[in-house]
Amino acid sequence: MTTLRLRAVLAGLLIAAYPANGPARAGYYDDNPATAGPDLRSDRLAEPGQDAHATFTVGTATAARGRKAYGVMNVPAGSDAGYDIPVAVLHGARPGPVLAVVAGSHGTEYASIVAVERLIDAVDAAQLSGTLILVPLVNVPSFERIVPHVNPTDNKSMNRFYPGDSKGTQTDRASSVVTREVVDKCDHLIDLHGGDLDENLRPYSYWTVTGNQKQDETSRAMVLAFGLDHIIISADRPKDPKASRYLENTASTRGKPSFTAEAGRSGPVDPKDAAVLVTGVQNVMGHLKMLARAAPPVAKPVWVGQIVSATADRDGIFHPSVDRDAHVVKGAKIGSVTDYLNRPLHDVLAPESGIVMFVRAVPSLKKGDTLVNVGVVSKEPR
Ligand SMILES: [Zn+2]
Repeated sequence: MTTLRLRAVLAGLLIAAYPANGPARAGYYDDNPATAGPDLRSDRLAEPGQDAHATFTVGTATAARGRKAYGVMNVPAGSDAGYDIPVAVLHGARPGPVLAVVAGSHGTEYASIVAVERLIDAVDAAQLSGTLILVPLVNVPSFERIVPHVNPTDNKSMNRFYPGDSKGTQTDRASSVVTREVVDKCDHLIDLHGGDLDENLRPYSYWTVTGNQKQDETSRAMVLAFGLDHIIISADRPKDPKASRYLENTASTRGKPSFTAEAGRSGPVDPKDAAVLVTGVQNVMGHLKMLARAAPPVAKPVWVGQIVSATADRDGIFHPSVDRDAHVVKGAKIGSVTDYLNRPLHDVLAPESGIVMFVRAVPSLKKGDTLVNVGVVSKEPR
C-alpha cells in the first residue's frame, strides 16, 4: 500500500454503541466498457517523447524498434550488498510516448507484481507506438524473504526514499537507480501497488494535484482511463523534486503526468485483481495513443478527498467486523481487540464516516499498526 494518511489514534476501551455495518458490495470494479479495437480518434497522433531513437536502453536492456529486450538495472554494492532489479523494454515499431510501469516496491503486494509480469507478454512491440518500460519487482529482497512493507536489507520502505541517494543504504541506492534509469527516461509513469500481506484492500487509484493545470488534466485523464472507479485525491504530496519521497511523485515533480493504482490483498493473487491492473495499463496506453484501443473514462468515479486512519494504541489480537469496501458511519464498530488470553480490551470504532478503503487483514496487532483506512467521499474536483 502507498498512502498519505491522517492518523487518528483510537483511545482505548471505546464501547461501540453502533451495530456493525453491512457486508461489502459485490463489485469492486467499474464496468468499464473499454474493448480492444480500432480507435476512431486517430486524428490525435501520439506525441513522440524521449523514444525518437532507433534503440531504447534501460539498464542492460536495449531494444530495437518493434522489439522487446530483457535486462536488469544494477544497484551497486555500497554500505550493504548490491542487487539487480529486472526490467523489460518494449520499443514500439512507431514513435510515441514513453510509459513506465513499476510494481513491487513492496515485494509482497503480489497482484501488482503479477500484473506487470503479464504485461511483458500481453503487449506486442510490433503493434506499439512509443516505448513501454516494465519493472515488475523493485524490492527483490522483500519478495524473496516474504517481508511486507520494507526492504529487509535496511528496513526501509521502497516507496519513501525517492529520488534516492547513491551513497546511502540499499533502498536509497535502488531509488537513485530507478530515478535515473526509469523516471528520467519516461514521459509518464504508473506505480502499481496492492494490499500487502496484512491489508484487506479495495482497489483504487490516486490522482495527485501538482498545481500545474495542464499536467494535472493529463494525469486525471490517465486515471479515468485506467478504469478503477474509486480515486483518492492527493493534494499534499511534496512539491520539491529533490525531496519527492514517493516514486509517482518523483515523476510528477519532474513534469511527467503520472499516477498510482492499487489492487490486490493479503497474499494470494485474485486473478480479477491482476486482470484489472493489466487492463488498466492497456487502457492508459490506448488513451495515450500507444495502442489502437478505445479507453473511455470511468463513467461514475467516486472521488475520495481524505483518508482517515485508526491505529492501534496497544498490542493485542484484532478481530475485524467489517470487510473492505464497507460503508461506515463515524463511531460505528469496525472490529475489536483482545489480549493474548481472549480477554476483551476494547472495540475499534470508525474514525470518520466513509468507505473502508482497507481493513487490517490479520489478527497480529502491535501498537502503532493501522487498523483501518476510511475514505471520505468528496465532490468531483474541478
Ligand atoms: Zn505498496
